[in-house]
Amino acid sequence: MNYRTLRHFRALFFPVRCPVCRKIIGADDRFCNECYDKLTPCKENVRIKGASGFYALFEYTPEIRPAVSLMKDGICGNAPYAFGSCLADLLVSQKADRKFSCIIPVPMHRRDMKKRGYNQSAFIAEHIGRILDKKVLKNTVIKNRLTVPQKKLNRKERMKNLENAFTVIDTAEIHGKSVLLVDDICTTGSTLAEVANLLTANGAKEIYCAVCCYTTNKKRDDFYESH
Ligand SMILES: [Zn+2]
Repeated sequence: MNYRTLRHFRALFFPVRCPVCRKIIGADDRFCNECYDKLTPCKENVRIKGASGFYALFEYTPEIRPAVSLMKDGICGNAPYAFGSCLADLLVSQKADRKFSCIIPVPMHRRDMKKRGYNQSAFIAEHIGRILDKKVLKNTVIKNRLTVPQKKLNRKERMKNLENAFTVIDTAEIHGKSVLLVDDICTTGSTLAEVANLLTANGAKEIYCAVCCYTTNKKRDDFYESH
């Protein structure tokens, strides 16, 4: 049974819901039309240190936040499919799908994984990999230790926080390869930069980054003020 047929079959018993408003939608749908129309495509030109390209779907606005929170709350629902499919479309439209041969989700520490039960970035990466027919390397990089959320730190503290936080387990899998690094949200870009540099240092040829949501500078400042 192919993936699409499986989704339609499963939807007979577990209706597919819009990850923003939870309204029932079609088995092939990502978001409902009303919610999708309110989302802001990310137009920012972002450079991640150590990466050759950066692709972000949406600005991290209150309109998209419920879909991101859903994944963080351990429910997921249709969110990874919605984000993964939209990201695959974005990569194809930017002709970026030809630039990499494998996908690596930004890893979570095993304690966080145990708490949530999954790594949402890996789910999103799997959908991208399925659509673009690329291998997803879920266990090639691991997170060795817990870190504090990057958004709470200044630049120096962020670097210290991530120092030696990740390790490449299997360098043969990335040697000479161009890799797409996938994460759900990018706020400061320092996690992506850290993993990108680590992959390059371990033999990867080029790194591209793809995220569902990007927190723009203005919204980041608002966040600091309100927290
Ligand atoms: Zn909706």
